[in-house]
This record gives sequence, C-alpha cells and structure tokens, in this order.
Amino acid sequence: MDERAAWTITVAGRVQGVGFRPFVHRVATRLELDGWVCNTGGHVELSVAGPPQALSALVRALREDAPPLAEVRRLDTAPGPEPPPVPGSGFTVRGSATAPGGRNAPREIPPDVATCEACLREMFDPGDRRHRYPFVNCADCGPRATVVEDLPYDRERTTMRDFPLCTACAAEYEDPGDRRFHAEPVACPDCGPRLRWDGLTGEAALTAAVAAVAGGAVVAVKGLGGYQLVCDATNARAVARLRERKRRPAKPFAVMVRDIDTVRCLAHLSRAGHAALTSPARPVVLLTARRRAGVVPGVHPGTDTVGLFLPTTGLHHLLSRVLDRPLVVTSGNLSGEPIAIDDEAARGTLAAVADGFLGHDRRIHARYDDSVVRPVGRTVLTVRRARGLAPAPLPLPTAAALPVVAAGAQLKHTFALAEGTQAFLGPHTGDLEDADTLGAFADAYAGLVRLTGIEPRVAAHDLHPGYLSTQWARSLPVKRRIAVQHHHAHVAACAAEHGVRGPFVGVAYDGLGLGDDGTLWGGEILVADLTGYRRAGRFATAPLPGGAAAVRRPARMALGYLHGAEPLGTGPPPASLIESFTRRLDPHEVRAVRAMVEREVNCPRASSAGRLFDAAASLLGLGDDVTYEGQAAVALETAAGSIRAEALPWSLRRVDGLWVYDPVPTFAALLEGAADGEGVPWLAAAFHRAVAEVTGALVERVVRAGGPRTVCLSGGCFQNARLLTEVRTLLRSQGLRVLVGSVVPVNDGGISYGQAAVAAARIERGG
Ligand SMILES: [Zn+2]
Ligand SMILES: [Zn+2]
Ligand SMILES: [Zn+2]
Repeated sequence: MDERAAWTITVAGRVQGVGFRPFVHRVATRLELDGWVCNTGGHVELSVAGPPQALSALVRALREDAPPLAEVRRLDTAPGPEPPPVPGSGFTVRGSATAPGGRNAPREIPPDVATCEACLREMFDPGDRRHRYPFVNCADCGPRATVVEDLPYDRERTTMRDFPLCTACAAEYEDPGDRRFHAEPVACPDCGPRLRWDGLTGEAALTAAVAAVAGGAVVAVKGLGGYQLVCDATNARAVARLRERKRRPAKPFAVMVRDIDTVRCLAHLSRAGHAALTSPARPVVLLTARRRAGVVPGVHPGTDTVGLFLPTTGLHHLLSRVLDRPLVVTSGNLSGEPIAIDDEAARGTLAAVADGFLGHDRRIHARYDDSVVRPVGRTVLTVRRARGLAPAPLPLPTAAALPVVAAGAQLKHTFALAEGTQAFLGPHTGDLEDADTLGAFADAYAGLVRLTGIEPRVAAHDLHPGYLSTQWARSLPVKRRIAVQHHHAHVAACAAEHGVRGPFVGVAYDGLGLGDDGTLWGGEILVADLTGYRRAGRFATAPLPGGAAAVRRPARMALGYLHGAEPLGTGPPPASLIESFTRRLDPHEVRAVRAMVEREVNCPRASSAGRLFDAAASLLGLGDDVTYEGQAAVALETAAGSIRAEALPWSLRRVDGLWVYDPVPTFAALLEGAADGEGVPWLAAAFHRAVAEVTGALVERVVRAGGPRTVCLSGGCFQNARLLTEVRTLLRSQGLRVLVGSVVPVNDGGISYGQAAVAAARIERGG
C-alpha cells in the first residue's frame, strides 16, 4: 500500500476574497489529493491527505504560485485532522468554519478590486448573459471591503446576501472549473443588483442618467465605497455648477477617462504613472496635464496637475464608454462632510447638488473614498489611501506586544489598528472637525475592530488636546495611552514603512502640529528613532495673525513674516520693499494685522514650512486667499513649471542649541526680484531651491555633528514634487540614504501609522 499522510495547513495573509480557495482546489485536484479547504476567521485552512511528496508539492505551490492578488504571510502545517480525509474522496471547497480556539494573527480584509479583463469582455459581448450588466464580477475582481460585514469572507456575510443566486449563477459558483467558483459577490441581471433612476431600472436607468450627464447635469452615482458626483469634464457650465453647489471653489476635481490612450491624450504619463493607473486599486493618479488637454480649465484651476483615473466597476466602464468623454467624478458630499453611502441620506444631503440619482440596490457596508496617488520620479506617493488600498495591512518594524489603536490627527484623518507586526491603516475619513466626520470615523473604527478582531488595549494619539481624535482616544477604555508628537509621528511613519527602527534624521515639513514645548511646529529637523526624538533644527517662527484666519489667508501670513518673523539678526526687509507688497492689499487690513503682530494679540507663533510656502505665494501675487489646504504651495509649484533657478539667499543661525533657518533674507530677495521685474516662474523656482538648500544645510550640520546618515522625509509639503525632487537629489549628493513614504501618505493621513509604530516601539522598550 502507498504511504499516506494527512496534514492540516493554515494559511494567513491576504487569502480571502482573492480566489485563493479555487486556486487550492485546482492544485490539490491536480495532485490527486483528498480533503477540503475552507475559510476560517480571516485565514484559509486545508485538511488534506495523500502521498507525502504530493503534500510537499502542495505546500510549495501555496507559497510560490498563489493568485496575483493573494499574499501568503504565514503558512503552518500540523498533523492532519481526525479522522483523516478518506482515500479517493477527492478535494472540495467547503463553506466557512469558525476559527477553532485562539487566533494566531489579525484577520485580513480583502480590498476592492477593479473589474478584470475577462469580466469586461463579457460585459461588452452582446451574446453574453451579462452583456452591459454593471455589477459583473468574478473570483478575481469586484467589491470586497465595501460589502464585507464580517469574516470569514462568504456571501452570507456580505451585503450580497440580499440577492439569492439564480440557477445559472449558482452553477458557476459551485463549478470548480469556472472562474466564478466561490466568487462571493457573483451576480447577473436575473438575480443581482439593479440600477435605479427615478422609476426606471436597469438599462433604462442608465440611459436616463447618461442623457442627463450629456445634457450638462450633475448626477449622483452610487459607486463602490460611496456616492460620487459626476458631470461632463468638457462642459464648463456643468463643472462651474458642480463647484458652486458643492461649495468647492478651487480644489481640483478627479477625472475618469475610458482608457489609457485617453490618459495619454490628456496628460504626460510616466512608467510609474501607467503602473499606478492600471493597478487593481485603480486610484486617482495626479499627472501633469498637456496644454489644451480637452478638459475645461475649471476642472483643475490654478494648477497643471490633473487627477485622472480609469473605470473601476462595470458601471464606470459603461458610463465612460457610452458618454465617450472625460467625466468629473468626485466624492458625493458637501465640502468637509463624509462621503454619502446610505441611499436615503444621500438623497437628503445631495439633493441640492445633484440633478438626478443613479443608484442601485446593493448596500454599501463600509465607506471608502477614491484613493489618490502622485508619481514623483520612480516613487509613487499615496496622497489618500482608501478604496482598493485600505485596509490592507502594513508591516511594523517593532511588533506591537499589546493591541494598539492610533487615533491619528485632525486633517486628512485616518486611524490605525496594530497587533504583532501588522498595522491596519483605516480608510481616509476627511478632516475630523465636526460631529459628522467624527461619526464616520467611529463607524469605520467599529467596523475594522470587528473585521480584524483586534481589541485595543493601548491608545496612541496626538499631543494636541483640541483634536477630536485626541479627545476620542482619551475616552476609550484602554489600559494605557501614549501621546506622540505630531512630527515625530510623521517621520516615524516614513521610517517604519521602510523597516527602519532608527536612529535617523527626520525632516518634517507640514502645515501645523503641536510641539512638545507648547508652540506650533511645522518645519522640523529631528534626530529620532521609533521610541523618541530630539529636535535638532527648525524654521524660524512667525506669527499667524488671527490664528486659523491666517491659514485661510496667505496674505496675512506674508504680513506676519514681514513684520513679526523671529528676530535672528537680519532685521526686517526695508520699508520700501514691504510697501511694494502691501500696496495691493487693503490698507485697513495691513494696519490691523500689523497692530495684531506688534501687540502679539491672537498671533500664535509657528515654525511652519507650510505657512512659509503660503507667505511666499502671496508675496509673488499667486494667491492671497486659499480655499483648500496646500493651495498656495500648489500655485507656487505650478508657477515654477520646469524652470531651473539658483537659490534665493538664505541663512542659518544657532539658537538655543538648534540650527534655525532665517527666511527673512529669502523673502527680501523675493520682493526685490519682483520689484526688479524678475519673472514669477523664476522666483518661484528660486524659492523652492532655497528651501531645498536650507534642508540640505540643516541636515548636513546634524550629520557633521555625528548624526545618523539615514534621512526620513515626511509631512504634507513633500507632496510638492519639485520640493521633494530637489531635496532628495541634494541629500543624496551628500552621500545620505534618503527615504520618503510611498504606501503611507506623507500628509496627515500617515500620522496614525506613525503613532502606531511609535507606540509599539515604546511598549517594547517598556517605557
Ligand atoms: Zn472579473
Ligand atoms: Zn444570476
Ligand atoms: Zn502634519
């Protein structure tokens, strides 16, 4: 008799919702093994019997040949089940089992996957039963994180349970040879979700919506992770109407185009950009628009950067192909509110924005906005980590010995859950400033706790007591709370993403974050590891006249620098130069702001790089007011174009043991250049160059004093491609190893992951 063995194999990682069980079935059947495979908890478990060589071959295949979307992180084998599978009984896929006993790792939730080529071919094949069916999907594609209510991942625990399978779909689902074998969201026109538009359904609903968009209307479309607002990107009036109704005057809109050739017509496309656009997550990719690119200027006013993306779902493909023009597709919300996911709520909040609603009857369980990335050279920065990317886990360099929740910051808010070496970065919630966004955060948190099975015992949060996220963390029933300084979290996020525990030099350039001395920081050079940091350099402080009012109005910030910059020996610019700037402003405002600055009334001081860029933009006449964060910096970057320039003057001073950048000479030169008729593009480029050289000099002084030679760049300012490229090139030329976040946002969306990394390291250190 042949020798036989029986094994139980547990596979952990991204193994559910990615066609893993069908893959196991194919391999085990080919190897003539007996047994079964099922989802347990967030893992996949095999009970299998056969000749030992065949079992070893199976394990090898599990490790090496897994489906493209799967990621096997851990594979354990143990002696097989009692009784072992019966010889000759064959191999089957079983329904899910609840995990026996304790868990061995947090469970992974599969992210949503864009419609695959095979499904698209069916959808556009007039002879196929899914011809023009917008909810087409298979084991390799379709909704996942947005419809999963609980794990293990099976149809009955997704919002697809509302749709009992018809005979034809059930046959595909049960046929091991079919590409829809155990595809949980499988659906067809007979049994699946249907489009709706007023009283119309299916194709008639689509036709009505298409006619509305073609006629210049703004249409609310129920997408994967929430409602989206759609209009014709080639129709100036439609775009203007959307801006006005959404109360979003200037922030660029994302544009969906039908295929990659259309992307090439609209924008310059690098290899990294191409890869990002066609990745399974189908994020919005920020690219440089070609001149006269075919979308109206109102789509991306004041910048030549345009966000383009390819269709994600069958519905998006149908809309793009039928309308055959670029479409604005933006979050279905009013500025600042969470994206609408509930049909009734959407009808309420979006009634004043949308002329019509193209909905359907599949519930959205979890809110996922569109993801946004920006290629810079060969690096792809994640600007917003949401649909298709979150909540895939990220590794932590120091294992979290206790389960951790990291509450994040305030703007571009995210939270993170961590246990062991895995951190789950939740989807982008928006700016955490009111009860609605706080509610959206609480929902997302409860959902991710249930799905991952992580029950936090430690809460990490920002130092800022006023952040809603900090207050939320303080209200949690945990055994320990860890406050993490904002910029330490920024640079720790970068280090942790690259597996660096430290020490390293952290360069954190952002808008504002609370420092450990009670003042506002934002242009910081830190010597750090994951447990702590020492401030080694910074930008000079300047007053924010009126606090938040100065953030919304860069002209105030410019006045703040001109009249109240930290005195570092250079003295303010000559009055005549200041006059050259202030004469285009309202004299009442100039006097009032000056008085505020001189009396130090409502003028918190900050050492912020973001505010420095704001002031420079206003000094160059590129915008005295902003309506979204980073707008002034975007204007400066755009103005500089591809011009090369020498740096404007700058100087460093030593203050209380820190190297401090004095921007007054830089600003004086900026005003002088403008007065002499130097072009704005050259001055904008020269300003960027100065900040890059300042960064190089600050880091060099730290390294020369014995500091580490690894540099972690982080903070929202590094979304500026020119700044990032110049700083990175310069630091590399100094022989340093330079890291920047790629999958973790450099903006405040990455703070929670940084907090989790710091908390894990502090728990390990026992401090
Ligand atoms: Zn598919
Ligand atoms: Zn069906
Ligand atoms: Zn920040």
